[in-house]
Amino acid sequence: MSRMPSLFIGHGSPLNTLQRNGFTTAWRKIGEELPRPRAILVVSAHWFFGATAVTAMPTPRTIHDFYGFPQELFDFEYPAPGAPDVAQEIADAVKPTWCGLDHDQWGLDHGAWSVLAHLYPKADIPVVQLSINALKPLDYHVELGAKLAPLQDQGILVIGSGNVVHNLHEIDWDRPNGGFDWAERFDDAALKQLERDPQAVLRLMDHADYEMAVPTPDHFIPLLYIAGAAAAAGTPMAPLIRGYTLGSLSMTCYAAGGDLSCRRESGAAGLPSGVPPDQTNV
Ligand code: ZN
Repeated sequence: MSRMPSLFIGHGSPLNTLQRNGFTTAWRKIGEELPRPRAILVVSAHWFFGATAVTAMPTPRTIHDFYGFPQELFDFEYPAPGAPDVAQEIADAVKPTWCGLDHDQWGLDHGAWSVLAHLYPKADIPVVQLSINALKPLDYHVELGAKLAPLQDQGILVIGSGNVVHNLHEIDWDRPNGGFDWAERFDDAALKQLERDPQAVLRLMDHADYEMAVPTPDHFIPLLYIAGAAAAAGTPMAPLIRGYTLGSLSMTCYAAGGDLSCRRESGAAGLPSGVPPDQTNV
């Protein structure tokens, strides 16, 4: 069984599900280059609640966890099977940390399926999601990511889906393909830190632009899982895609380990015009 890399994907707008743009085209190419995993584990920014849990149902539902988007997006289904056996493997891998098996609550949210729709458009690989425990400090997530690293040798592709820079209150509709100076500074600092020492990813909290780039931790935390996994596996993190959208979102993606060597730049992705960003749950 080939060793899988782990990925961090900057997912941006849910509309990326339906769009062919620079980012989603690059996601498709990444999916074509990856070895076929036995299963996929996604840590999505959008399953952020008060416990650590993994989805363990055989047929996870497609959750449309947003509003203000076209009906076509609400009609989208990603019918990948679940993997109760893999969920149990994950719960075992993170012990003694407690990880609950979710049989009937969650499913696949758009942090997972907006990306998987392009990485694996056939939806024929089992997918499980790991929640982000909102009650835990940030170092908990780096440590939990480290415990996931051995799963890469078991054919499991671990994906963190969020955004390194994610500030919906600062969105600038006049910058569909650009980033603010502070957003680019923080994204550049993250890249330097992750290339040099992913274990120390939380040094980014001391960066002068951290408060602007990470006003809430939900989209940043998936990156911590991949940094923790990379550090534990001793594999470097390398950027796969770099780019910005609407000024205050970075779309940067990373790979850690594996044979993935592609390096792509930018592309355009936007929210539907006229939708207030605080009503979109991007
Ligand atoms: Zn999001």
